[in-house]
Order: sequence, then structure tokens, then C-alpha cells
Amino acid sequence: MFYKVALLGAGGVGKSDLTLRFTQNRYVEDYDPTIEDQYTKTFELDSHAVKLEILDTAGQEDFWHLIDYYLQQREAFILVYSIADIDSYRTVQQFAEKIKNTLGTEAPVVIVGNKKDLEECRKVHEKCEDIIREFKYSAWMETSAKLNDNVTEAFHELVRLMWKRNTDR
Ligand code: GDP
Ligand code: MG
Repeated sequence: MFYKVALLGAGGVGKSDLTLRFTQNRYVEDYDPTIEDQYTKTFELDSHAVKLEILDTAGQEDFWHLIDYYLQQREAFILVYSIADIDSYRTVQQFAEKIKNTLGTEAPVVIVGNKKDLEECRKVHEKCEDIIREFKYSAWMETSAKLNDNVTEAFHELVRLMWKRNTDR
């Protein structure tokens, strides 16, 4: 099974580090924030062979024009904020709204609060219940790309949500 997914979120929240951690088990302290790239990863999940093509987006100036293109290209999304950055949480709310209006409420979405290792700097206390309630195939979790905490789970959850939706269809 082959799926095309994308990570969306404000700059600096850890989209690239989550992608590198999942695809290559790498963590880069100062990854170039302007690099947008695609990564593929093949793995087994619940006895199924899965291949993910992951688009790690970088928020360029024209991002809000590109977003429609991304949404048409990809079938499921990881929306990333940092638990230490309240603005990045608001950005995720905006992306969720955009996805809902463009693709509808059946788009598979995992909301990720990254940098959970920075508990002492926590600004976001939400569990994203409002967003989760709006999407039929959605989940929320907190991760740390730095400590490799919950990263694999986030990608696996996204695949399981796609399966659930495809079974329902
Ligand atoms: P992007 O702009 O969303 O792609 O963000 P990056 O993946 O480039 O990460 C931005 C910065 O946040 C990096 O310089 C990392 O050092 C830092 N970072 C990423 N993930 C974590 C994490 O889980 N914990 C902590 N403490 N820092 C992180
Ligand atoms: Mg990046």
C-alpha cells in the first residue's frame, strides 16, 4: 500500500526533524528551515507492507497559495505545532480549518504537539479536542523528535486512520 502524506505547520516546530527521525532515525539541531523535500519510507504495520511518500513542507512566502495544491496532492496530513509556541498552535487551527473547507471532514489528520521534552517551556495545554471532534479520522498526540518519543506512533496512527477511512468507504 502506497500513500502520499504531508506535514504542515509553522516554521520551526520540528516538521523536518520529525520526518528525518521517522525516515532515517536522524535528528539535526539546525536543519535548514527553507528546505522542502520528499522522503519515502517502507515499513511493515499490522502485517501489511506500507510505503509512505512524505512531503516535508517549508513555509515559504507563497505558502497560502501553495496550500491548495498540497491538499490536492496528498491524502493524509500531520499538522504540527510546538508545545512551547502558542502561535504555532493557532497555525494548526488554521490549517485544520482549511483542510475541512477544502477536503471535508473525512480527511485523515493527526495533530502533533512536538517538543514535549520542553515541558518547562510549555505554553500549549490543549489536547486539541475541538479539532479532533471535527474530523472523522483524526488523532492527537505529543511527540519529541529530539528524544525520539512517539514519532513512529504518529506516522503509524496516520496510516491506521487512512485504513479506517478506506474500510468505511
Ligand atoms: P521545521 O521548520 O518545522 O521543519 O522545524 P525543524 O525540524 O527544522 O526544527 C526546528 C528546530 O527545532 C530545530 O533547530 C531543532 O533543534 C528544534 N527541534 C525539533 N524537534 C524538537 C524536539 O522534539 N524538541 C526540541 N527541544 N527541539 C526540537
Ligand atoms: Mg523544515
